[in-house]
Amino acid sequence: MSSIPTHKMFITDSKFIILFNYRKGAKTILIESYINNGTVDEKMNNLGVSHLLEHVCVDGWKGCKKKSCSQFFKPQGSIINASTGQTYINYWIKGLHEFTDSMLDYILSISTNPGIEAKRLKKEKKAVETELKIHKQNPQIGLYNLLNGMLFLPEGLQQQDNVQKQIDLLPKLTPQILKTWALDYYGSGNTVISITGEFNQSKLLKKIKKKLKKEKDPRLRPYYKNVFKPGIDIQYHQNNQIDNTTIFFVFWSPILYNDKQIFLLELFKQFINTGTTSLLFDRLREQKNLIYNIQLDNYTTPYGTYFLIEISTKNSNIKVVIEETLKLLKKLGANKFTKKDLEACKRSYKIAYYQDGPHSNDYYSTHYAEQYINQLFNITKNTTVISPEDMLKQIQSVKKQEFAAFIKKIIILANLKIAYQGKKKETGILELVNKII
Ligand SMILES: [Zn+2]
Repeated sequence: MSSIPTHKMFITDSKFIILFNYRKGAKTILIESYINNGTVDEKMNNLGVSHLLEHVCVDGWKGCKKKSCSQFFKPQGSIINASTGQTYINYWIKGLHEFTDSMLDYILSISTNPGIEAKRLKKEKKAVETELKIHKQNPQIGLYNLLNGMLFLPEGLQQQDNVQKQIDLLPKLTPQILKTWALDYYGSGNTVISITGEFNQSKLLKKIKKKLKKEKDPRLRPYYKNVFKPGIDIQYHQNNQIDNTTIFFVFWSPILYNDKQIFLLELFKQFINTGTTSLLFDRLREQKNLIYNIQLDNYTTPYGTYFLIEISTKNSNIKVVIEETLKLLKKLGANKFTKKDLEACKRSYKIAYYQDGPHSNDYYSTHYAEQYINQLFNITKNTTVISPEDMLKQIQSVKKQEFAAFIKKIIILANLKIAYQGKKKETGILELVNKII
């Protein structure tokens, strides 16, 4: 790949967001849609509906005729798949250039007017049930359920891992319920289409505009005001099946994708992951021998950013792990780390970037589409997005003080949630936490 890819955004008259990530010389093409809906929109009586609909839609293009869509695309070798999350659904197809037209038709159709067939629905209910039963076996499921109730306010997010309820509801989710859901959410004003690879830009744009012309009725979805619960909360889940105690630390902050510093989160992760530059790992593992590894998960949604630090330790070490972790995080936010520490993190980020970074359609498409889908309620021609190349520059040039200020912005101790599971409940954690923060 010689030249740097270009990125363009178009808003069609019918209010679709179209992204062109043009990568000269790319051998394949990736076409994706991101649709603003997910578990956040669900209620107790339709839990799991967005996921079930996603399964049905993968097969919901008339162009596949009597075959299934995977049978239809098989001769092309194209790959299709989809996923459901808390705030968006993602459909994608990747394949060779010569099949661009049918791939585009497919994604545009299932993302705007999916066909919902009773026969297919029956089949996908079986598939979803199997997935849910596997999910139910996850040893962390009880802990996730506990945490969801502590962290979120919308019912759908609180219940997103309530697997049994979702299994029980499957027979009640009729084709009509799915059709109504698709009408409410799929289409104009609520969808980002992203095309990545080498393609004829003007020809493709014309084709897209023509196909979406009739979609004139923008879906005006609610923007939820209160998604995260404020305040400190600490709760315990009994689990006699596990030997160690697992602790979840969760922090949330009102940082969105319009914040130009958002990508510093990737640098911050180098400070607290299981890596050589991680000060948290160094403290808990190398100096104190309390743990073996640290797992991190972070999410930025249209409603805020949260991240989860997951640590397992001996039951007798719960309090000391909590104490050491919070003390260290507080220190980082107070600019109490060295310049050398920061430089090491920057290098470690740079290595990750060059190893896994922008060499693929997937990377570019996700990088841009996530910035738009998470700012969907506020997109104009001037909406800020940042290229992968600028993201790297920004991360490499951040100054120590500025970085500490950013850490302080995302580590809001007043919003701390701690959920832990093991054989034995520990006393006095809240008092300990209050003393530290
Ligand atoms: Zn699924």
